[in-house]
Amino acid sequence: MTNLATIVGMSAQRNPAGTAIKMDAIEISFGALEVLSAKVAALLAERGVAPGDRVALISPNLPQMPPIYYGILRYGAIVVPLNPLLKAREVAYHLKDSGAVLAFAWEGVMGEVAPAAEETGTAVIPIDANFMALLAPLEPLTEVAAAEKGDTAVILYTSGTTGKPKGAELTHENLRSNAEVSVSLFSSRDGDVIFGGLPFFHIFGQTCALNSAVLAGATVTILPKFDPVKALDIIQRDKVTIFEGVPTMYIALLRTPGREKYDLSSLRLAASGGSPLPLEILHEFESTFGATMLEGYGLSETSPVVTFNQMDGIRKPGSVGTAVTGAQLRVVDDAGNDVEPGAVGEIAVAGPYVMKGYWNNPEATAAAIPDGWFRTGDLGRRDGDGVFFIVDRKKDMILRGGYNVYPREVEEVLYEHPAVAEAAVVGRPDDVHGEEVYAAVALKAGADGADDPEALAANIRDFVKDRVAAYKFPRRVIIMDTLPKGPTGKILKREITIPEA
Ligand code: AMP
Repeated sequence: MTNLATIVGMSAQRNPAGTAIKMDAIEISFGALEVLSAKVAALLAERGVAPGDRVALISPNLPQMPPIYYGILRYGAIVVPLNPLLKAREVAYHLKDSGAVLAFAWEGVMGEVAPAAEETGTAVIPIDANFMALLAPLEPLTEVAAAEKGDTAVILYTSGTTGKPKGAELTHENLRSNAEVSVSLFSSRDGDVIFGGLPFFHIFGQTCALNSAVLAGATVTILPKFDPVKALDIIQRDKVTIFEGVPTMYIALLRTPGREKYDLSSLRLAASGGSPLPLEILHEFESTFGATMLEGYGLSETSPVVTFNQMDGIRKPGSVGTAVTGAQLRVVDDAGNDVEPGAVGEIAVAGPYVMKGYWNNPEATAAAIPDGWFRTGDLGRRDGDGVFFIVDRKKDMILRGGYNVYPREVEEVLYEHPAVAEAAVVGRPDDVHGEEVYAAVALKAGADGADDPEALAANIRDFVKDRVAAYKFPRRVIIMDTLPKGPTGKILKREITIPEA
């Protein structure tokens, strides 16, 4: 297994002048990306970093970010990408937990990073206007560190659904082989332009946009902070061929006034993952934008892609598709035995994309991978064609009066209501039923009935009541301006509060 950073050199050799990274008028060619990352490696040597050391990278998607990412890898150090929205105490936690010796941090987050780094004794290199000047005098470190099978490339902190965030240790092999999966699924090649609006500090953007684009010799056009109007501008201006996003991004594009004025004919493929894609949105997107939309499934711990719908193969809208090449999937019960064919159970994964383990956390690793099979925490089923359907997160399942309510199923119905733009169904403790079902929605702009929110909320509730079993419908629907979202646009259910009636 070779160092993941060698994908830069491969593309630089094939097409040195081709554009690797683009942001507005700034362009970095493959040749320049190779030289810049070799200079970042030289900078690490100069600062006394040793191979195997952890180096944090705290930045939104900016042109400097890929050279830093590949430079750290090339040097044989380990990248610890961190979300630039973290507050000082969270940054300190991650720096301490990973034992980072150095952090590259975007100047815009220095207010949070500087005090954290001082606390942990971590050196900081700011990513600012002087950054390129800092690299300019350095002699590129031409050598790429050898990476053995099992060598860690990246420690990716997962959103931490339970307890403190844990660092998933992803190897060069994990990341390289999953980037190859992306390239083959999307048939991406030289000439493709991939939308880079998913953050590279998250696994979806890192593997499927950045690494897969570099591997394929395609261009990634970046947007530091997702905004639907800017995204539409970029698709039109840069002739984006492959759009990758989470469902809330697709919803935002569809709900943007004036979107029909854009020429988006370059788009050939839209890939969705990260959370369930409502079927309504898939159909609406395909008919509006004329691009094929494929949904896939994966996690940080699996580098991420393990299932996908295929462009020229098995495709079932509403499903997450079949296992990708190399991924082994089972559907198991709590004891780890296979459930009956077609029954719902927890998805377990084995194969080359599964992380080595959680950094410095053997207990959590043993709990997640008890028998060689990584437990995803997601409930799903496999049909007779080998197609997977994600039912819900195990922990999001609501147990009401002895019945299982899968929020996702109820959310699908909410999305069918003409006024609903975004929907989340959550459970809350209840004296009578153990848990009770509630829904939070955000409305489409100019939705009928928005002037009387109370009546509209009741109307939405009754709409669902008519369409699902009595134990599943939300007792109360609350209307919010927008639903709380994480950095990748995933709706954060834990941040939704249902006020007392
Ligand atoms: P992360 O580690 O942040 O990438 O989050 C992984 C989680 O996202 C999975 O465990 C799933 O719960 C969820 N997820 C990813 N893709 C899908 C999908 N297509 N449908 C439903 N949930 C998904």
